[in-house]
Amino acid sequence: MIAPVAELEKCLAKLPGFGRRSASRAALALVREPARLAEPLVAALRAAHDSVRCCSRCGAFTTIDRDPCDMCTDATRDGTVICVVEEPADIVSIEASGAFRGRYHALGGKLSPAHRMGPERLRISELVARVRDEGVSEVLLALSTDMDGDATAGYITEVLKGVTSRRDGGSPSHGDSDGGSPSHGDSDWESRHPAGVKVTRLAFGLPADSGIAYSDPLTLKRAIAGRREA
Ligand SMILES: [Zn+2]
Repeated sequence: MIAPVAELEKCLAKLPGFGRRSASRAALALVREPARLAEPLVAALRAAHDSVRCCSRCGAFTTIDRDPCDMCTDATRDGTVICVVEEPADIVSIEASGAFRGRYHALGGKLSPAHRMGPERLRISELVARVRDEGVSEVLLALSTDMDGDATAGYITEVLKGVTSRRDGGSPSHGDSDGGSPSHGDSDWESRHPAGVKVTRLAFGLPADSGIAYSDPLTLKRAIAGRREA
């Protein structure tokens, strides 16, 4: 194979879902049909590369001109619940399930001694700050169901023990009816939301050793609906 096509094949083969044979077929199709396939792909790659960023608050994919992202600023979403995921792609999957209308926080990975991934490399202090500052009453951990995911969930649960949310009006606006920022001395609200944030995990039902991004919407919907305290 001539060098440029071989190089194209090599790049394509690194993409998830591409084996060597499918990378080879795709590369040949691209050089065979430049106007229909290659040119739009080059333009789309360039546009995505130039404009897509991660939201500085939640870590979800957003565009360079929208930071914080639409999910962070949408007042109709429930700001009292934060769903913690490993990667921004996980947020895309959970959104597709339609089962969650709170806010998100992507850690940027999970704890993994094998990959030298310690807590300092994850966005955990940012999560703690958000729980304190944004009127959060529940943190839903939507992490993978392998050993590293479990270790990460355990670590975050420990870190969040004793962390209380400022509920004195310092939080961004919330559009929900149950949570939100109560007025001072709202004893009924306080009794329903005792000090300390509640930490929950997705229900079993997710395939073992799987990531969120590869779970189908229905499975995710059930896992979110059946979540339980960590
Ligand atoms: Zn965001």
